[in-house]
Amino acid sequence: MNKFLLDSHLGKLARWLRMLGYDTVMKDNPQDPLGEFVWQARMSGRIPVTARKQIPRDLRSDLVIIPQGPVVKQLRELKERGFIDIPQKIELSQTRCSLCNASLMLLAMSNPQHVKIISTHPDVKKGTLKFQSVFYSCTNPDCGKMYWEGIHWERIKHTLRKARE
Ligand SMILES: [Zn+2]
Repeated sequence: MNKFLLDSHLGKLARWLRMLGYDTVMKDNPQDPLGEFVWQARMSGRIPVTARKQIPRDLRSDLVIIPQGPVVKQLRELKERGFIDIPQKIELSQTRCSLCNASLMLLAMSNPQHVKIISTHPDVKKGTLKFQSVFYSCTNPDCGKMYWEGIHWERIKHTLRKARE
């Protein structure tokens, strides 16, 4: 599976790539020159992606250059050029945390050890528990964001369907 390093203005795309399960990090410092960015990608085995317009000629072949927003167009571009796959069915178990890129861990109300973690989590409202019994938690202790396949998830699937067209 490809890994990506995104230019600092592509935060939205980063979140979507993580939702598709791609290990995606952002460039550390927006001030760094592009040559540094390409080098950072090479050292970490990642594909460097930018949507900048002005790119020095000698770097063009080292970078994946995509159009500036909207994100559906960017995802489609990456798919058409063979860098990513947008599967028919996308499930939370295959995604990464959209905020921090860590992997997710399954938590279920049917597991007595998980009940307390789920029901005391600040992201999970009482009402949510009426409809959801399966959750995914970010494995990064500094983040801990909780995910579940609620209404929001339907919107995500809709956007990905559009990107696949
Ligand atoms: Zn996270």
